[in-house]
Amino acid sequence: MKEKINRFMQGRYGIDNYSKFLVIISLVLVLLANITSFSVFTFLGLGTLIYAYVRVLSNKPAMRWRENQLYLQKKRKFLTRIKKIPNEVKQRRQYRYYRCPSCKQKVRVPKGKNKIRITCPSCGTQFVKKT
Ligand SMILES: [Zn+2]
Repeated sequence: MKEKINRFMQGRYGIDNYSKFLVIISLVLVLLANITSFSVFTFLGLGTLIYAYVRVLSNKPAMRWRENQLYLQKKRKFLTRIKKIPNEVKQRRQYRYYRCPSCKQKVRVPKGKNKIRITCPSCGTQFVKKT
């Protein structure tokens, strides 16, 4: 039996981080379906689970690998953004945050200085704000 499974899995992609993530998402969706009794969640959950299995059993490892890399990249970005939040909350007492009108770069300026001219560190655009 184990040999049969091994033979079946030969050349198949197998489990990666993205598949694990998809399985967790599908479980959350099915759980949501039970709590809210919205059957839409059941379909979404099952769909996600089926997609996870299709990826695991796929015989196109290069494509699945790229998907996994994209997933890992997005996860990393998300986690660095989350990690910054407590620090920003702490600093909000002393600083104000603005977005540069031209490049959308976040700029931090000290509070209580009244009207000031801010120079964007990234693109050099100047704009006036009250702090
Ligand atoms: Zn800028």
